[in-house]
Amino acid sequence: MNAARLPFPYRVEAEVLAASLSVLKGQLDWPAVLASAEPWVRSVREQPAPFWAMESLLREYPISSAEGLALMRLAEALLRVPDAETAIALTADQLGRGDFDGAAEGSPHKMLAQLSASAISLSKRFLPGSANLGQNPPGLLERLGSRTVVAATVRAIQLLGRQFVLGRNIQEAMNEADAARKSLRNLRFSYDMLGEGARTERDAERYLASYSKAIAAIVGTAAASPMTADGISIKLSALFSRYEDAQRERVFAELLPRVLRLVDQAAQANLNLTIDAEESDRLELSLDLIDAVAGHIAAKFPQWAGFGLAVQAYQTRALEVVDEVARIARQHGLRFMVRLVKGAYWDGEIKRAQEAGLPSYPVFTHKHHTDIHYLACAAQMIRHHEVIYPQFATHNAGTIAAILQMARAVRRQLPDGSVVGAAFELQRLHGMGEGVYREVMKDPNVPCRVYAPVGEHRDLLAYLVRRLLENGANSSFVHQLADEHVSAEVLLASPLAPSTESALPQPLALYGEARANSKGADLACLAMRAPLDAAVAATWVPAVPMASTNEVDATMQRLHAGFDAWAARPLAERAAVLQRAADALEARLPEFCGLLVKEAHKTLGDCIAEVREAVDFCRYYAVQAQERLAEQTLPGPTGESNVLRLHGRGVFVCISPWNFPLAIFAGQVVAALVAGNAVAAKPAEQTPAVALRFVALLHDAGVPSDALAFLHGQGETVGAALVAHPHTAGVCFTGSTQVARIINRTLAAKDGPIVPLIAETGGLNAMVVDSTALPEQVIDAVVQSAFRSAGQRCSALRLLCVHEGIADGIIEMLRGALLELQVGDPADLATDVGPVIDDEACAGISAHVQRLRSEAKLLGETAVKSEFPRLIAPVAFEIGRIAELKNEIFGPVLHVVRWGGDVNAVVSQINALGYGLTLGVQTRIDSRAQRIADTARIGNVYVNRNMIGAVVGVQPFGGEGLSGTGPKAGGPNYLYRFCAEQTVTINTAAAGGNAELLTGQS
Ligand SMILES: Cc1cc2nc3c(=O)[nH]c(=O)nc-3n(C[C@H](O)[C@H](O)[C@H](O)COP(=O)(O)OP(=O)(O)OC[C@H]3O[C@@H](n4cnc5c(N)ncnc54)[C@H](O)[C@@H]3O)c2cc1C
Repeated sequence: MNAARLPFPYRVEAEVLAASLSVLKGQLDWPAVLASAEPWVRSVREQPAPFWAMESLLREYPISSAEGLALMRLAEALLRVPDAETAIALTADQLGRGDFDGAAEGSPHKMLAQLSASAISLSKRFLPGSANLGQNPPGLLERLGSRTVVAATVRAIQLLGRQFVLGRNIQEAMNEADAARKSLRNLRFSYDMLGEGARTERDAERYLASYSKAIAAIVGTAAASPMTADGISIKLSALFSRYEDAQRERVFAELLPRVLRLVDQAAQANLNLTIDAEESDRLELSLDLIDAVAGHIAAKFPQWAGFGLAVQAYQTRALEVVDEVARIARQHGLRFMVRLVKGAYWDGEIKRAQEAGLPSYPVFTHKHHTDIHYLACAAQMIRHHEVIYPQFATHNAGTIAAILQMARAVRRQLPDGSVVGAAFELQRLHGMGEGVYREVMKDPNVPCRVYAPVGEHRDLLAYLVRRLLENGANSSFVHQLADEHVSAEVLLASPLAPSTESALPQPLALYGEARANSKGADLACLAMRAPLDAAVAATWVPAVPMASTNEVDATMQRLHAGFDAWAARPLAERAAVLQRAADALEARLPEFCGLLVKEAHKTLGDCIAEVREAVDFCRYYAVQAQERLAEQTLPGPTGESNVLRLHGRGVFVCISPWNFPLAIFAGQVVAALVAGNAVAAKPAEQTPAVALRFVALLHDAGVPSDALAFLHGQGETVGAALVAHPHTAGVCFTGSTQVARIINRTLAAKDGPIVPLIAETGGLNAMVVDSTALPEQVIDAVVQSAFRSAGQRCSALRLLCVHEGIADGIIEMLRGALLELQVGDPADLATDVGPVIDDEACAGISAHVQRLRSEAKLLGETAVKSEFPRLIAPVAFEIGRIAELKNEIFGPVLHVVRWGGDVNAVVSQINALGYGLTLGVQTRIDSRAQRIADTARIGNVYVNRNMIGAVVGVQPFGGEGLSGTGPKAGGPNYLYRFCAEQTVTINTAAAGGNAELLTGQS
């Protein structure tokens, strides 16, 4: 692993800003910036953009409105829907949400308004389920009407899309570019071949061919210098499906040669090739790659100055990125073209940091901080002008004016008056910022490059939606420019007054005052990964002695004796013990990850998630206990006090599985403890060490040894003896449905009190995909849900139900994605899928796969190259009917069925399987997702995402039917089941009379 090139990504925003402001010190005269930008704004507002421009569209249907949102949803999905029935359902669903008729009134942009409104309001009138349905007779006419209206809506969206693509293919785009240059000489173009990131090798090859073809087409037009020639922008995620830090070796072995092929082509033609910037966790990797590319260029094309990359100013490390890029260029004796952007993935970056429990955000949380940083980066790029050709990409008039001021200042500073050092260009996206640039480019010395997407409608959709979202944001310049209520002074206000506080709660403060979010780690960040790697390397799994059945009775007697004292501890004290345990566990994240990797053979990513879940359980139940188990005063007649109290039941037996040997073990045990029970904890036979370590941690945190005992042993012996013991006051079990039944019968057969059982068992979990779903998103969700953790999660996807209209494409992509998975040693960061837990599991799953090979249709499987023991290749088979799936196969085996017709029938068949744990739904029809959730007899329903990794207190986990008894773990109703209830009623008037009433105090 290389040393990190950049500082820690998760720093205090205000501190980063201070550094950024010091770079800008004395550089900007904001009143002068305002003075130059204000006339542009006035002029743009006086000559409104044509009806198809983004600005106009956003005024018509702001994204914050129901209409804007509906339009965006339709724009994202409608064009890819292959079947008329679903297209009608989607259109009806979305159009039913807004008032498109009204939005057109009084608009200055009648054409778009009329076009959209007529298509859309027509649709509303004809579509089934829409507001006016009752006025139309159902039947053929309505159906014909629906189709016509959908066709009209499709046209409207195509038209909208056309505004943001320069051409459907490179030739068409180049013709458009030539036409545009006739009126604006200083225009250059950077073509972008549209599409989603590659999910398969085939996708990557297709993108490579398309980039290569585009470069070949541009070659003929190349000017003398890459600065003035048209060029191309490429996305590394399009050229390789595994462009991620964890796959570093493959990135250099497979992606780099592809990039070099394109670089050679561009260098030979002396044109500009720019690498787009993507997510922040790929930043270090991208710089390593760029360094390698630079080495290649220095050796082969030392004179070429057309290689470029984009830098995102919203990243807190952007200033250091600029310096590092300049360093790489100097080191190789090159000059790079560097495009400074603010950044396009802000919402995604914020979400990832929150989900992963990172120490801070990798991007700024205040919009004006991004603006400040952008200017600081610009100043730094200008400083490095001998190795950087600055390209400033923005539509913000204030930013543009500030840049021009800084660049001109440098130009003036040159002693001989030459302008060499200050050469730069501005950039904008095609279809955006046209008005502002019309004004800016009245200065003939200001060149502008247009980033010009090229592609067919289908490929445009994701891009279009990003642009709609970006510009629909209230903070966006384009959005505010379109809003006449925002004065030019406000629009162009100086960003240079930093805020001291983050605009969003820090990721660890996500849950507010109630509890801290558990700390995670970013495995792409060397500083966070190194301690984890070291811990894994240093870990050995200690042998844990087995308890004999004889020990069970002695232990139960001890716990029975200890119960009263523990139950008598104040609730706050018991909760405090859990809080201490959470903090201790969090601090020992690397140690516990090491144990999980070595004992349970989990990948590092899974281990981090598991430790965090255990920490969350401790904190969540501590808070829940204090909120829900506290004594409650109940209303009643005067002269009487009534209180409800909850207390522990006695000795709870907790039996947990090997697949979450820490999280599930911890969740059961701490819930039982905080409710005031003593606990006999039996871990899975395969994974006692990590459980034992956690028990020791709980003892250290203050749980007395006679309130918590650890018994490692066989289920059939120790487990059975615990369940059958007369002192057992409750059982909490997670495992197979069969064992849950045995426990249930054992408990039922006992004399004495009827003992409650909390059982969380397996599932035959399905995902329903309709034809509005985005295939790439489906594949991501399927791969994560079915194959990650080697399919050894009770929530894992077993049955993928795909609409027949898109099934072939999905299956093809799934086959390709399976080929990209890495199966092997879980301690290796590159491993996606580790081994299954033991030989017995391995034999069972293998036998099932063997049977499917003869009974079902093999769709695809991963090639296993590792010799690591007990590996099962992730595999997918097509089966004929949902009902063919009988048993839960706890491994990386996916069954696929096609469906057509009524989606409700699919849900009924899934319900009929009898399990009810998790369900995935992939659809853009909101009402359909809601209806499926309403009819599914299933505990956890996930829409348009993966269906694993339930978060404590966020997605309480647990099912119904054959999947368990409930209540949900990590949910607000869980603790009650561990408690007995008592009401205490005191006749306060017993002694003589009702003194309170008589004295008027009650
Ligand atoms: C030629 C060109 C090429 C591009 N290439 C790339 C690329 O390779 N990679 C990429 O990621 N983007 C790229 N972009 C997209 C670009 O990032 C956005 O279009 C750009 O951010 C819009 O900035 P603006 O100055 O026009 O608008 P403004 O409205 O002034 O700024 C919008 C920016 O502020 C950020 N922002 C919004 N709210 C907040 C907040 N609360 N806290 C902090 N920041 C906030 C947004 O994320 C966005 O980056 C490119 C843009 C252009 C013009």
